[in-house]
Amino acid sequence: MTRFPGAPEPKGLGTPYVESLTGYLQRVANAHALPSSNMFVDELLPAFRDRDLYRGHDRDIVRHHARAMNGAGKHARAAVETLSQVTGRGDLASLSFLTVAEVGKIASTGIVARGKRWCPHCWADDGNTADRYERKLWNLSVVDACAAHRVALQERCPGCGLPQPAIASDVRVGVCSLCGRDLVITPLALRPPGPGSEAARRLWYAEQASALVHAAEAVELLGVSKESLDAARRAGLRALADHLERHGDWEGVAGQVETWSGSANRPSIEALFSILWQARWPVARLFPDAARPGRDR
Ligand SMILES: [Zn+2]
Ligand SMILES: [Zn+2]
Repeated sequence: MTRFPGAPEPKGLGTPYVESLTGYLQRVANAHALPSSNMFVDELLPAFRDRDLYRGHDRDIVRHHARAMNGAGKHARAAVETLSQVTGRGDLASLSFLTVAEVGKIASTGIVARGKRWCPHCWADDGNTADRYERKLWNLSVVDACAAHRVALQERCPGCGLPQPAIASDVRVGVCSLCGRDLVITPLALRPPGPGSEAARRLWYAEQASALVHAAEAVELLGVSKESLDAARRAGLRALADHLERHGDWEGVAGQVETWSGSANRPSIEALFSILWQARWPVARLFPDAARPGRDR
């Protein structure tokens, strides 16, 4: 049943800056003059309950479930299905990390960041609050910088200093749900003092994460077959393992990467990125031919 007819189109589809699922829910609720927490409680929590995914003993029921719906597990699948039904849209799967986890064969545990983060420059570029949207990338646990603007993501309101809930009660995107202040400030640019510095690592992680999201989007849009994609991923991981093996100090790590090229052992996104950074091995090289974004086919 389409309870929210004429729901807005998700923003950034087909790009690394595609919208997040909770952000989309907030915009649908805004468009229907409904507090997003009401929409969440009325539409999503019953769906989690129906699928036995509801945990009523949490201190903060909404926060726990809202965070899980941005991930790559059963909550995300249930949230995509439910929101697709109530909005009548068929393009919401890429707003979660379901495709990213599937394409990268990454464990769903630990894929979502704990709190809500945002890049004020991205929001400033969007324009006024009605045009702002939350990027899915900001929810990825390994990302804490914006690769486009080279700044750290923010996680606290510059006015009241408080972190923001994933699902707010009744607020526009980019506005503090607790004190009502606009969350757009001008943060300091991350200026890496050297190629091995912490700032350089954060920017590299952010760039590679956007490449990973882009690859997943491209696979979805181009309809690359699962088999050819998996073959490409295995070949990419074996090439990385060979590279690590040739480098004397990294033999243990090479063995670890070799196990990931099998199907049973999925790395956490943290473990994967840590090794990619160590070897300065870009995500694009994990998908050698079949799945490279932007490739004509
Ligand atoms: Zn940005
Ligand atoms: Zn505030």
